[in-house]
Formats: sequence, structure tokens, C-alpha cells
Amino acid sequence: MAGAGPQPALSIVVPVYNEEGNVGPLHAELAAVATSLGRPYEIVFVNDGSRDATLERLAAIADPALRIVDLDGNFGEAAAISAGFAAARGAVVVTLDGDGQNDPNDIPKLLGALERGYDAVSGRRLERQEAFFSRVLPSRVANRLIAWATGVPVYDCGCGLKAYRRELVDGAQLPRGMNRFLPALLGVVPSRVTEITTQDRPRGSGASHYGFSRTFVVLRDLLSLPLLVRGGPVGRGHVHALNAAVIFLLIAAVAVAGRSLAAAMTALLAAGAAAAIRHNVVRVVHARESGVFRVRRILHHGNDDEDRHRGGGVLGHEPAPDLRARAGGARH
Ligand code: UDP
Ligand code: MG
Repeated sequence: MAGAGPQPALSIVVPVYNEEGNVGPLHAELAAVATSLGRPYEIVFVNDGSRDATLERLAAIADPALRIVDLDGNFGEAAAISAGFAAARGAVVVTLDGDGQNDPNDIPKLLGALERGYDAVSGRRLERQEAFFSRVLPSRVANRLIAWATGVPVYDCGCGLKAYRRELVDGAQLPRGMNRFLPALLGVVPSRVTEITTQDRPRGSGASHYGFSRTFVVLRDLLSLPLLVRGGPVGRGHVHALNAAVIFLLIAAVAVAGRSLAAAMTALLAAGAAAAIRHNVVRVVHARESGVFRVRRILHHGNDDEDRHRGGGVLGHEPAPDLRARAGGARH
């Protein structure tokens, strides 16, 4: 670490679930890139309830800049990222996948864009190292639709490599799957977001945690994005209004069914759409109220002297804070 300060300039957050073959090499790459920047940094791996040796491999790395947030189970990638945001202390927070697909050497480019005044920077993989018809094409279609629905110009939502000013991610609690709608869901101003071309590498080892079905989930989620991103913070009032809309549309469908099948089908479709929007509004409200992750403990190498400026705690001795109790909630 280059010179301890009161706060690291940079936090690199990596969610990991069953990435035992990848965490060692990735940590080494990240440490090399972060050291070359010459600013205080920390690397925060969030172990999302891995069932393999991911945690053991991480704990064996003797790096005082490494913090391991060990979650109390498998909460999903969005929750793991939320936990990383909560634990990160840097003025700038970078996220990337733990499977080696994102290239750490792209991080300086992202930081450069933040220095030019952007609040969030998203990586854009031009040559995807994945199958065209089953992964690249569906994701291209989904990306266009997401950018249109959110109004935020990000066309590679699935890219895990992103950088944010910390104020943007403070207190974020992302329901399952909603990491795909970052940074839009954080309430960022669209003109203060940019994309930077990044390398896409093949997965280090192991298999992707997602299949083709996620495209359908994204399509369902699309309907709620305009409200979640542009509608200001959602609350119980929105849930009640959507409940009423679903019931009204169902009653209307039954009432007109005898006279016009087309009208009844339209009302049914509208009821389905309102129900899909309600589903995500409920998830966002619940995530904000209850939090989406639980921390078992934070593992941390180093000694008290080195840690004086970095929040304290040595391996196994740092008390597990209830990170969910942090002020604020997900902002939309
Ligand atoms: N991940 C996680 N919890 C999960 C699923 C995935 O923390 O429940 C992590 C995973 O280890 C990886 C990142 O999220 O670091 C992205 O997952 P993956 O590489 O499987 O997704 P893809 O690259 O296929 O979108
Ligand atoms: Mg991946």
C-alpha cells in the first residue's frame, strides 16, 4: 500500500461465489495495478457464501490492503455488491467480477474518467468472449431496452467493471438481479455517466452462475425501471397504488369479457404489467427497510499500527459490524 491516509483513495470491490481457482490470481493482478497508481487503496473481496475453498484461499493471502467481507450465506451478486459498497471506505469505489473476466489493467482508464468529472463509469466489452446467439445477442437487445427505459447511457449493463464516486453508492441495498441496472438505480444524473471500452477475457475457471433465463428476468424488470429510476424514491404508497391498479384491471377484464375479448385481454395484460412493476417496487422497498445481506465477519490481515489509519482490526478480531444499520437506503 502506498502511504496510509485517513481514508483510502480507492476501494476495489469484488463479489465472489465459488471462485476458488480465480481469487488468488485476481488478487495478485489487482494489487499490482492498484500499487502502480501510487495512492492508498484497499481490496475488498465479498465472499457470498461460497461452498468451495474461496474463503480459505482469500484468507491465506497476506496482504494488509485486503479485507474479506464474509457474508452469512449466499445472498446473490447484487447483495454481495451492496455489502462491498457498505464496507468500502475509499473516495472512489471500483467493482469487478471475481472470475477474471474483467481486466484489472482497465481500472486506471475508469479512474481517469472519474477525474474528468463523471460520477460513474461503466465498462463496455466490445469483443465478448462468449457464445453469440445464447449470450451476446440477447444481452445486446436487453441492453438497448434497459438504456431506453432508464435514460442512462449504459449499453453493457452486464459488465461488472464499474467505478463510482463513493457518495453515489453509500447505503445502496440492491435486490437480487438489480446490479444489472447500475448505475441507473443509484439515482445518477445521466449526463454524468460514461462508458469506457474494456477488455473481456474468458472466465478464469469455473462456470457462469447465470443461464439464458436471465434475459427473461431482465425483460420483466424493464417495466419497473422508469418508475424506479425516474420516479424518485418509491415507498409503501406506490405499493398500495399498484395493488389497487392490479385489482381494478382484473375486475375490468372480467366486466368487459362478455362484450369484447380484445378489451378483456388488454386489461389482463395491463394487470400483468402492473403486477410485474409491483413485484420490483416491493423488492426495492423491502431491501431498503431490511437490508439485503448479513455479514458474518470481516477478515483482515495487518497489524494495529498499519491499520491505525484504515479503520482498525486484525485478522479475525475486527468486530462484525451490522453494516445494514448504516444510515440511508438505496436511492433511486
Ligand atoms: N456472484 C456472487 N454471488 C452469486 C453469483 C455470482 O457473488 O450468487 C459473483 C461471481 O462469483 C462473479 C460475479 O458475481 O464474481 C459475476 O458472476 P458470473 O461471472 O457468474 O456472471 P457473468 O459473468 O456470467 O455475468
Ligand atoms: Mg463472469
